[in-house]
Amino acid sequence: MPQSLQSLSHLIADKVVRRVLPSDRPLKLWTRRGDGRPCNGCEKPITTMEIEHALGLSGDLILRLHIACEDFWRSATGNEVPGPQLPSPRRVAGEKRDGLPI
Ligand SMILES: [Zn+2]
Repeated sequence: MPQSLQSLSHLIADKVVRRVLPSDRPLKLWTRRGDGRPCNGCEKPITTMEIEHALGLSGDLILRLHIACEDFWRSATGNEVPGPQLPSPRRVAGEKRDGLPI
């Protein structure tokens, strides 16, 4: 991710303001390995080395975002991470698979 996180945050907030990106609350949320298709936030490919966060919105719309881009999208839209869908941290204590270098 060569862009600075600050410019990325601005880019995504701007897309939300201009309604390029929806701000609906996600109905479904899942993660999977990227397949090279572009992220809806930064428009860079989500490579097979990265985790893609897919958000299912109303109207069969699916947003594909990097983890960092999803964070910025959520703070720009006010959609907080739904508590019950977070994986339990107990089983993976001491193991951090999704940690991306910043
Ligand atoms: Zn992205």
